[in-house]
Amino acid sequence: VEIAGAGIGAMTAAAAFALRGWAVTVHETQPRLREAGAGIYVWENGFRVLEALGAYDDAIRDAHRGYKSRIRGPNNELMEERSHADERVYAVVRQNLVNALAKVATDNGATIVCGSTAVGALPEGKLLFSDGTSADADLVIGMDGVGSRVRDSLGLLRSLEMLPDGSIRAMIPTLPGEYDTEEGRIFIENWSGNRRLIITPINKDVTYLAFTCLDSDVEAKQVPIHKALWTRTFPHLAHYIDRVEDARWDVFSTIKVKAWSVGHVAIAGDAAHAQPPNLGQGGGMAMQNALGLAVALEGVTDRSDIPAALVAWETRERPLVEHCQKWSALYGELTYWPDELRLQVLHHGSQIPWITKQLTRAAQSHPTGTVGSTLVSPYLAAAPVLETAAD
Ligand SMILES: Cc1cc2nc3c(=O)[nH]c(=O)nc-3n(C[C@H](O)[C@H](O)[C@H](O)COP(=O)(O)OP(=O)(O)OC[C@H]3O[C@@H](n4cnc5c(N)ncnc54)[C@H](O)[C@@H]3O)c2cc1C
Repeated sequence: VEIAGAGIGAMTAAAAFALRGWAVTVHETQPRLREAGAGIYVWENGFRVLEALGAYDDAIRDAHRGYKSRIRGPNNELMEERSHADERVYAVVRQNLVNALAKVATDNGATIVCGSTAVGALPEGKLLFSDGTSADADLVIGMDGVGSRVRDSLGLLRSLEMLPDGSIRAMIPTLPGEYDTEEGRIFIENWSGNRRLIITPINKDVTYLAFTCLDSDVEAKQVPIHKALWTRTFPHLAHYIDRVEDARWDVFSTIKVKAWSVGHVAIAGDAAHAQPPNLGQGGGMAMQNALGLAVALEGVTDRSDIPAALVAWETRERPLVEHCQKWSALYGELTYWPDELRLQVLHHGSQIPWITKQLTRAAQSHPTGTVGSTLVSPYLAAAPVLETAAD
């Protein structure tokens, strides 16, 4: 297996295939394995994948298990509260997640080549590089992100929609004692007009902030961050905003593709199905489809059967991904609504079990190859720890 990219999705694929005895080489364009300096929400579905790969303990080391989320309005008023007592959601440092997956991959024989840029692929199973060389494989996987060159070289893109909103992400130091307070251990989404500031405690040392606004909100999306403007928007959060130093801005996007594979080449993760991060499932979907891909090829002994196995994989996994893309986009629509209307929708919507079920369907799912799925892999690393109460 030759894999383009070494993000969360690609490293999951590398670990899943290496555990099954495949010879795996991963090509990352950056000079080293480096994730955006940010946190990431991982939900139950992501943990089931990590458990199946044996990467769970390393991934959640130094992470924060959420026990409650709050939504607050422009005047710091409480709009909604959700308990996570019956579900697992952690805020994890991205780099720790990738490192945990990379360790499983390399411990099982995978090779990671940094500074290696893929420029395309051929359906017969060839990955092409920027230096003019290529590598042959039974399976090529393009997990090279939103701008995937593997996907585009095969003409698989149906649409790349840049959304009207985006986010500045930053990690700030946690103040002494802050993590010990009740509010300091809660995920808080603060709304004011089109702007949002999401506060995510990770541990005693770091807190993750996401400043979300419209792409047309030129001052708000500035990096370095316009502290005075954000403090005017959220005066009660000045003590967080003050601490921001490094930050990065990304516009949200949605990717739709014609198919997830051609011949011996598969695409997955953001390359195939990027979505706005409103449900915190872009990474979850990348992980679960990567494991599902390895499981789809478990029974295949003849190279010529691989293309059909890839089609079966897409047929099984794609409906959930598309459901998730749709509901994440719907949630994002709230950004454009007036505060009062948003408040009403959030309040009444959360009382309707059907809506909650749609929003959490991916998070609650049992990914292919994990305990509870219809297709349980014989390679499950260990019996999962199914906790139900918050730490
Ligand atoms: C603001 C924001 C917040 C988010 N929050 C969450 C969250 O809380 N929970 C969640 O689950 N998801 C979240 N997401 C989504 C999540 O980050 C992505 O869905 C996830 O990172 C996708 O993983 P990936 O491996 O498919 O792609 P990427 O993470 O984009 O990785 C692609 C890798 O490929 C490399 N690469 C690119 N081009 C090439 C090339 N030509 N050759 C070789 N290598 C190449 C890149 O350097 C990169 O390392 C968020 C996204 C944003 C923008």
